Amino acid sequence: MHPFTFTKASDTREALNAGRRGRYIAGGTTLVDLMRETVERPETLVDISGLPLRDVTVTKGGGLRIGALVTMSDAAAHSKVRSLFPVVSEALELSASAQLRNMATIGGNIMQRTRCTYFRDVTANCNKREPGSGCAAREGFNRTHAILGTSESCVATHPSDVAVAFAALEAQVHLLGPGGERTVPFGDFLLRPGSTPNHEQALTRGELITAVELPALPRPLKSGYLKVRDRQSYEFALTSAAVALHISGGVIRDAKVAAGGVGTVPWKLPAVEKHLIGQRPSESLWAAAAEKATEGARPLKHNRFKVDLLERTVERQLRTVGDNT
Ligand code: SF4
Repeated sequence: MHPFTFTKASDTREALNAGRRGRYIAGGTTLVDLMRETVERPETLVDISGLPLRDVTVTKGGGLRIGALVTMSDAAAHSKVRSLFPVVSEALELSASAQLRNMATIGGNIMQRTRCTYFRDVTANCNKREPGSGCAAREGFNRTHAILGTSESCVATHPSDVAVAFAALEAQVHLLGPGGERTVPFGDFLLRPGSTPNHEQALTRGELITAVELPALPRPLKSGYLKVRDRQSYEFALTSAAVALHISGGVIRDAKVAAGGVGTVPWKLPAVEKHLIGQRPSESLWAAAAEKATEGARPLKHNRFKVDLLERTVERQLRTVGDNT
């Protein structure tokens, strides 16, 4: 591990001042790992774990604002998260291990970096770690990599589960920086790799995530998360689906759907949503809508199976949520 200085911010102003020169750290479950592997070499760490960003509050109309420092386990267990947005609770509970969920925060979770093995191997070429060095995964073993949103420069997936639920629900990310407060739609917060895969979030220098807000949505709303992986626990998604459906009078009035494990960012599925809205739930509808999930997919040598798997994952989760509504 490279030497670094460590400072603990006692309030938001102190954090922002120090954040101009350093990296924020809260639970540290990703960053410390990467520092041990020398993938990350920050000169200054700014501990923000003491900031007052640990509340979950119901917003006007029935949305939820989850503070950036709420731990994954606290968010998953919160009564309002469970009752209003079970898809968020389920995505969190299917992530990492209980020990990690007790430490890791919501803000840190959406900031976590890819699990691409070449990114974590400092001897491999990786444009995300070392811009301009190439992408070892393109011609290497790319079974777990992305089939959607890829570029010539990078084909790594985003590893977060709860980010898939946030993308589906069209959450907002609240930020605070030297220039003041602003809000970014979740769909614009995580960046596709393009030619600059090292640039991963729509953050300016020193900006801090303060909360993630889930919008008030028409009720009744049924939602859930399905994760498909190589083993039943402590594993990242090969594919996943976050689904929320508002059905009234036997008709789907609103649909929110996104996929994980397949995109360079959590992958919103507007074509699937469009196919569902205004229709009556049926077996044939779930299947036809799920077919839209793979539009634009560009599989690599070792991950062609993800195309079929994604379609089946989305179909199964639409049926699970829709048939219980
Ligand atoms: Fe690096 Fe992205 Fe290529 Fe992985 S897929 S080696 S993270 S550039």
